[in-house]
Amino acid sequence: METTTIAGVKVSRIGLGTWAIGGLDWGTVPDDVAVATCLGALERGINLIDTAPIYGHGRSEEIVGRAIRAHGRREDFFIATKAGLEWNDRGVYANSTAPLLQAELEASLRRLDTDFIDLYQVHWPDTRTPIAETAALLAGFQRQGKVRALGVSNFRVAQMEEFRRVVPLASNQPPYNLFERQIDSACGTEAAILPPIRTWCAANGIAVLTYSSLCRSLLGGRVHRGMTFDADDIRSVDPKFQEPRFSQYITAVERLAAFAHEHYGKTVLELAARWVLDRPGVSVALWGAKRPDQLDAVAGVMGWKLDAAAMAEIDRIVTESVTDPVGPEYLTPMARKD
Ligand code: NAP
Repeated sequence: METTTIAGVKVSRIGLGTWAIGGLDWGTVPDDVAVATCLGALERGINLIDTAPIYGHGRSEEIVGRAIRAHGRREDFFIATKAGLEWNDRGVYANSTAPLLQAELEASLRRLDTDFIDLYQVHWPDTRTPIAETAALLAGFQRQGKVRALGVSNFRVAQMEEFRRVVPLASNQPPYNLFERQIDSACGTEAAILPPIRTWCAANGIAVLTYSSLCRSLLGGRVHRGMTFDADDIRSVDPKFQEPRFSQYITAVERLAAFAHEHYGKTVLELAARWVLDRPGVSVALWGAKRPDQLDAVAGVMGWKLDAAAMAEIDRIVTESVTDPVGPEYLTPMARKD
């Protein structure tokens, strides 16, 4: 397993994503299978586990907590969880107000059954709470020893600048895969003055943990033309999985699969994960899995590299096949009203 460091701690460059094993949004996953997936990750050299209170509304963190107990050695895991999303019947909202973050921290520690969190990330920026206030609050959590390093997720460069003026920032967690590359372009209003997220993070020593590295399964090799998803599956509303776009993406996947096979003897999944790891500035690729065997393919991602010609060919295939691309913006939470 390739490794990197986050805030001085050695972590695997593949991290287990546990949104799906929360059991909401991706169909049900039995408890024992979900716990086995976390333990299976550890057996395959993956020590970084990413979770969040919103995943399964607490269940994902509970599953990770059960896996830590079953394994017995807390220090073998690097647990990254998050705070700052609240949910109700009407939807999901970014909320980084102090009462919510304080309550979430205690709830996460309880569910994870641990005294500390290795990396505590603000899940989404709350545009109604000053970032400096949030950073100061999290710095307090750090001083109490309840969290070790601080990170953010879905933050723009200007927002990260604001955060780290108050307290050191260890990481950012953006979406990134070979179909979703928004972090490689400068952000709208920031374009004239600030570099793109990946460039800025690399230059400033901020670890980048990419989410949706497999584009929510589109690049996993199992999703095929004409496939449909249950109403309780997030992919039933993901714009990439709706026609006529879906066919364009599937064409790209088919062509990428042929390229991976011919040039490297690899699968499209192995190619897609390698692509993320080979992009300068990427520290960790998060890989969502619901069963241990889905992590068997991790071994085939290690020990080789994509060269510049392969990167260019991948770009050509994607640009030619996907003529009406769409990003992951539908995942953005709603703004708070009160
Ligand atoms: P992802 O990693 O891009 O894709 C996960 C899906 O890929 C799995 O559910 C599975 O689909 C498929 N897959 C996995 N292994 C496979 C294999 N061996 N063969 C074929 N298909 C395979 O999805 P993601 O959940 O969006 O991202 C990963 C993690 O990033 C999440 O779990 C979460 O920790 C994090 N995340 C963070 C944010 C944020 O705002 N910070 C947002 C989204 C995700 P099937 O279900 O069809 O088997």
